[in-house]
Amino acid sequence: DQDLRDLLLSRIHDVPDYPKPGVMFKDITPLLADAEAFGALTDAFVALCAHHGATKVVGLEARGFILAAPVAVRAGLGFVPVRKAGKLPGATLAQSYELEYGTAEIEMHADALDAGDRVLVIDDVLATGGTAEASLQLIRRAGAEVAGVAVLMELGFLPGRARLESALAGAPLEAL
Ligand code: IMP
Repeated sequence: DQDLRDLLLSRIHDVPDYPKPGVMFKDITPLLADAEAFGALTDAFVALCAHHGATKVVGLEARGFILAAPVAVRAGLGFVPVRKAGKLPGATLAQSYELEYGTAEIEMHADALDAGDRVLVIDDVLATGGTAEASLQLIRRAGAEVAGVAVLMELGFLPGRARLESALAGAPLEAL
């Protein structure tokens, strides 16, 4: 709702030219430091878990971990990390994806999800959509279902939503 949007937006700071010239970085640390705002955000994600019938919560490294972990606890669901390549100790599934310049790779433990799981993916920012798209491919390759993708914010001037469309296959993309 509008009050939640206003509260969240007031706690996200725009940092120009970070991490490189020309980029406007969305800094969520003021939101995390505000108990009311972080709590309201967590409650909103928890409501999405229930609404979309999630049985597991996936967080995307690194800010997605911070947002998704309290959601999983409050929703009574397990938390599964999707990490940058080389960080997980067990057998993994890996998925590479295209960046503006070059490629990146993310991984998930191969046994982290069960066949009947419905997974909600949580992250802070949807930019080009590459990270979220690759995470959906990992979830499907693990034999689980996608309940949806939920982000704090979507950068509407980038084509992230369009890039995700086929990987979502009808599942919702929610931007709070
Ligand atoms: P994408 O793969 O291009 O959609 O980029 C999304 C990933 O980059 C997310 O995991 C975000 O945490 C991170 N990201 C991109 N832009 C920003 C930003 O302005 N602020 C914070 N994180 C960002």
